[in-house]
Amino acid sequence: MIHRILVTGGAGFLGSHLCERLVEEGHDVICLDNFFTSQKSNVVHLLNRPNFELIRHDITLPIFLEVDQIYNLACPAAPGHYQFNPIKTMKTSVMGVINMLGIAKRCGARFLQASTSEVYGDPDVHPQPESYRGSVNPIGPRACYDEGKRAAESICMDYRRSNNVDARIVRIFNTYGPRMHPYDGRVVSNFIRQALRNEPITIFGDGEQTRSFCYRDDLVEAIVRMMNNSEGFAGPVNIGNQGEFTIRQLAEMVMEKVGGESKLVQKPLPTDDPTRRRPDIRLAKEKLDWEPTTPLSEGLQKTIDWFRSIDIDDYQPPTPNYS
Ligand code: NAD
Ligand code: UDP
Repeated sequence: MIHRILVTGGAGFLGSHLCERLVEEGHDVICLDNFFTSQKSNVVHLLNRPNFELIRHDITLPIFLEVDQIYNLACPAAPGHYQFNPIKTMKTSVMGVINMLGIAKRCGARFLQASTSEVYGDPDVHPQPESYRGSVNPIGPRACYDEGKRAAESICMDYRRSNNVDARIVRIFNTYGPRMHPYDGRVVSNFIRQALRNEPITIFGDGEQTRSFCYRDDLVEAIVRMMNNSEGFAGPVNIGNQGEFTIRQLAEMVMEKVGGESKLVQKPLPTDDPTRRRPDIRLAKEKLDWEPTTPLSEGLQKTIDWFRSIDIDDYQPPTPNYS
């Protein structure tokens, strides 16, 4: 069945891949973005498709559209990006989700919220199941993102209970792949960029902290399954890869694949940086019949190949946007 689908944050790293997939499937896709952390080049190849439409808009402001499904991905996601204007980040999560849920309510559209593993903060439980309520510092520099996403989850569940909106939640763990912003400051993009330029690879802290890295194609498959689950499963559900790597191991893998002469250098660990992170994905397996299929080594190679194919300096850091 063909749907009219709104993808907020649709010009971003994950959003642009999602738009591509939905356009290929023949849906009528509206991509809405304020280009805070992305650029039109991510979706320019879709502009001549009759079933694709691009709107520059900020989701902290209301907009009236008629759609059947909404994927709410708009939000800066990398620490450097979401801390650039933390008040705006919180507004995007809270005011943005209210505006987009308003469309869902008015149109009877199904709604999918892109939440995050950051709702677990620096977790005391490992790996993290959905039932774990998290350990977030509500007043630290990461709170604008973590607490914003936690508030957005609450608002989704209240719209379900009070307004009958079919709102669903995915908690996305670290995802990487082609079209990551080369200057977003995330670990995969930093390490690849640094290795390609023979610059020092910056390990924050002792490099023994862990993350689990999911390839973007696996992620997009999971969120499409979540949106289209016919049993009304609302989540929250963890989406991520269970392979757990130390940051030092990741650096070594990148250096081995890229070659070159980069050396590891240590930098201070950012405040509230989580020490361990790995998703428990049993719920996703059971409810969505989904698990990731791309090992880190293969996904990293594809990502490195993409970084080699672009001019990294075409990608600019975020420019001021106003609260
Ligand atoms: P991204 O920065 O590439 O994409 C976010 C997009 O949202 C960008 O195109 C940006 O310009 C847009 N945007 C930001 N604020 C906006 C606003 N107020 N109005 C309209 N558009 C706005 O990041 P991504 O990695 O593609 O993340 C997409 C979503 O997935 C985000 O909601 C993020 O929190 C979530 N997520 C991503 C990861 C990951 O590892 N990539 C992990 C957890 C959650
Ligand atoms: N990190 C690092 N060097 C970098 C960038 C990040 O060692 O150049 C570390 C960071 O401190 C964290 C991990 O890599 O422990 C993942 O960081 P990222 O910003 O990618 O994601 P998040 O912390 O949000 O999971």
